[in-house]
Amino acid sequence: MTEAETLEKKKQQHKSSNGDLPPEAARDDAFDNTYKEKDGPKPPRIIVWRNVILMTLLHIGALYGVYLIPSASAATLLWSVVCFVISGLGITAGAHRLWSHRSYKASLPLRIFLSVANSMAFQNDIFEWARDHRVHHKYSETDADPHNAVRGFFFAHIGWLLVRKHPDVIEKGRKLELKDLLNDKVVMFQRKYYKLSVLIMCFFIPTIVPWYLWGESLWVAYFLPGLLRYTLVLNASWLVNSAAHMWGNRPYDKHINPRENKFVTFSAIGEGFHNYHHTFPYDYATSEYGWKLNLTTCFIDLMCFLGLAKDCKRVPHELVLARIQRTGDGSHRSG
Ligand SMILES: [Zn+2]
Ligand SMILES: [Zn+2]
Repeated sequence: MTEAETLEKKKQQHKSSNGDLPPEAARDDAFDNTYKEKDGPKPPRIIVWRNVILMTLLHIGALYGVYLIPSASAATLLWSVVCFVISGLGITAGAHRLWSHRSYKASLPLRIFLSVANSMAFQNDIFEWARDHRVHHKYSETDADPHNAVRGFFFAHIGWLLVRKHPDVIEKGRKLELKDLLNDKVVMFQRKYYKLSVLIMCFFIPTIVPWYLWGESLWVAYFLPGLLRYTLVLNASWLVNSAAHMWGNRPYDKHINPRENKFVTFSAIGEGFHNYHHTFPYDYATSEYGWKLNLTTCFIDLMCFLGLAKDCKRVPHELVLARIQRTGDGSHRSG
């Protein structure tokens, strides 16, 4: 038996199912194979009409934003991309890799930046996002998964936000400890002033900057870097829950649904290596391949270089290879 295999075997004794846990910690983001869905009929689906109406209006507004693209200045288009990247990082580097998975440590200034960027993305506050996301990893593809992809593409993508949560999602979410989040002053501050911060960061700043600095019309600025950019970030994030749980290879673990999806990786600035990510949720790069198609990993490495982040967790290469051998679907390009 090679050293890597011995290491892998040791890890096996500590982990619940596919989590490959670092043995020192029982983690809330590791898959829990002891949970069983309740027998009998499923609870009725209760539609939240307020959300249906708001999401419909938002997407109509975004389509109108597409129509306005030819009338926007080059600076406004560039600003829209900047806002897309900042709000994307607020989700990927912030709510996801830092606060949900604790895959690296961030200094106070970086945490403040990421929380502000997170408000620009307007996808529920960091506390709620991270809680839902840990429940997603712990109970993937079951009733307790907030965006259970077994319920189909539409549900995993946006439908889960348009109906009341399954009771098991609420029950399991309440059982998570979340002490790290409760003790993080930046997370709690953002939660306290969430609505105001969203108004300022998601709508006011994207609209006012192009108007004030280069004379763009408020109308175009509201619909392009505002609504269209917001809607694109939302859909890019949702694709991780929908497309990356349905289409693609499973080189690391063929027994789970999450997959490697290049299109999602590109649109969600590095979050589409989803078979890898669910197999090794504590890896800060969410991928075996470092910077490849992974703007978020580039950003975290830049922050480390500037001394604003540290302690990035990575899975040893031998462990990844051993896992590919043991549970992969054979699609891994070795070498
Ligand atoms: Zn997932
Ligand atoms: Zn995750």
